[in-house]
Amino acid sequence: MVGFMVKIVFLGAPGSGKGTYSERISPKLGVPHISTGDIFREAVAKGTELGKKVKEYLESGSLVPDEITIQVLKERISQPDCEKGFILDGFPRTLEQAKALDQITDIDIVILLNLPEELIVKKLAGRRVCEKCGKIYNVADISYGKLRLPPMLPKNPEGVCDECGGRLVQREDDKEEVIRERLKVYHELTEPIIEYYKNQGKLVTVEVDAPADEMAEKILKIIREKTGKE
Ligand code: AMP
Repeated sequence: MVGFMVKIVFLGAPGSGKGTYSERISPKLGVPHISTGDIFREAVAKGTELGKKVKEYLESGSLVPDEITIQVLKERISQPDCEKGFILDGFPRTLEQAKALDQITDIDIVILLNLPEELIVKKLAGRRVCEKCGKIYNVADISYGKLRLPPMLPKNPEGVCDECGGRLVQREDDKEEVIRERLKVYHELTEPIIEYYKNQGKLVTVEVDAPADEMAEKILKIIREKTGKE
């Protein structure tokens, strides 16, 4: 576990594995995994004021306005569990958000996950999440040239979550029409951030070419090498 700060951003198209690797790496580094998507989904499920404001954006696959998103992120990273740093999954998603983040804090490293788009669509369609705790599974079994991304199934044959026994469901926005819209939004609004972080010397591009546990090890090694933090 790290004895000092590490602040990480995971960048990549929806379905590139940001959530899966963040979930695995966060306990190893002892820093929280922060997903703005999870925060919004929880708010929608609970019917809070924030949930009412963001519901339509999530359903259509468009982005929640920067003003709301930046405020939510700011509040989240000011919590005591972020003292030693954090892993951001799904934030920033616009240049505006990236610039706002730089005003609030110093990011150490940005990991860009790369995966061919046709596989992204397959992975998104195969994704299942626990409706109680949000843990991610995947039923897609992908072979692509030498690349093999096997399914990530629960140990429990009943198809319930290993962690909490919750029901595994498909996310509403993992349906085909919404997937297309989310990918379009990614290309138009999020991709420009790649150049922004490249210019800062913080970007490391990682090819998604191995099963999840192996990928998590590979990324952890890169983080340790690049930041000099154990
Ligand atoms: P995710 O779980 O990261 O795929 O996010 C699900 C949805 O939440 C997105 O399609 C957006 O509608 C919204 N969302 C999550 N993070 C952001 C962000 N940084 N900026 C704007 N909208 C976001």
